[in-house]
Amino acid sequence: MGDYSSSTLSSATQQQRGNLVCYCSVDSPLVTAWTDENPGRRFYGCGRYFQRRKCKFFRRFDPEVPDRQKKIIRGLLKKNDALRKKERTHVSIIVILGVLLLLSFVVMCIKFAN
Ligand SMILES: [Zn+2]
Repeated sequence: MGDYSSSTLSSATQQQRGNLVCYCSVDSPLVTAWTDENPGRRFYGCGRYFQRRKCKFFRRFDPEVPDRQKKIIRGLLKKNDALRKKERTHVSIIVILGVLLLLSFVVMCIKFAN
């Protein structure tokens, strides 16, 4: 797993329920892997995939992606993560500027009231 997984991505995300049943007799979900080796590749996993007790049920859904495409996907994920971080910084700056503007307005109101 790469460092781009810090925001919304985890090593895998669940997309929908499939019509397969795992060894626990639970509906097998279609899961998307977000590992370095299989970024965005979907598979059917254990119905308890996100719980502690899970079986080893595993069935590929998407075919193998060429290495070049994996590299491109990893690059895009990193860029996306970097942009999200930048966006959070910008939102923080806007909030701080808003508070400062409000404070200066309050100070001016107090000055002109006297
Ligand atoms: Zn299972």
